[in-house]
Amino acid sequence: MTTHPHTVDHELIQAAAHVARTRCRGDNHTMAAAARARDGRIITAVNAYHFTGGPCAELVLIGTAAAQGAYDLDTIVAVGDRDRGVVPPCGRCRQVLLDYFPALKVIVGTGEHLQTVSITDLLPESYVWADHQLDAEQTTPLSTS
Ligand SMILES: [Zn+2]
Repeated sequence: MTTHPHTVDHELIQAAAHVARTRCRGDNHTMAAAARARDGRIITAVNAYHFTGGPCAELVLIGTAAAQGAYDLDTIVAVGDRDRGVVPPCGRCRQVLLDYFPALKVIVGTGEHLQTVSITDLLPESYVWADHQLDAEQTTPLSTS
């Protein structure tokens, strides 16, 4: 069916694209993110831009998901406003997503080349926050290697 290790969740991309198209406004909200929770639900969010370091849509989504009782996310995708399509997570988000959800999958790429990759593939040789805490033995995330 596909040569990619993970299929692409097009419903998730459509959810993010819909929010990007209908909810993004001006300079404050320019990106939308959608995530598939482990229980199948789709959660969406938009960024809250501010020059002091307002959070990306992916980070707002983590809090939005928790507020709805979804603490384990399976796949995430971000879509830009003005029909920019799928946008890969920035470096900060890659680190945060890895620390929160070590098994998370991320949809990246454009057009015919959309693919689902592991968050660990987007941050090779990464710093894993949990590995450097005093109680690391109890909180070490699952390794995918
Ligand atoms: Zn980001």
